[in-house]
Amino acid sequence: MRLIEALKMAEACGLSTVGEAVMNIELHAGSLFPYQDLPLELAQLESEASAFDENVRVKEAIAGLLDDKYPVPTCPHCGTELKMQIVTVNELSKTVYKEVKFVCPRCGYEE
Ligand SMILES: [Zn+2]
Repeated sequence: MRLIEALKMAEACGLSTVGEAVMNIELHAGSLFPYQDLPLELAQLESEASAFDENVRVKEAIAGLLDDKYPVPTCPHCGTELKMQIVTVNELSKTVYKEVKFVCPRCGYEE
């Protein structure tokens, strides 16, 4: 989920800070997204929200995003907007966990 959508939802619910906006989505994620999309939706939201202090006001954050003061991550090689990808990692053939990666759709750069 994009941060801007979470912020607009928070504004509609009368919440005041970015931290509350993110928590609002986390608490209701189970009824907002299909189960298999949960990790990706939440990872995208948390990654975009990490550009902000959690105490930033919702209205300020919306204005900042609309002004493009907090752009989404872009590729250092070609400037394309990076896409988030979830990779399943199988460690020592026991623990399976998911890892989030940013990948450039144009040149394949990963971070
Ligand atoms: Zn690139």
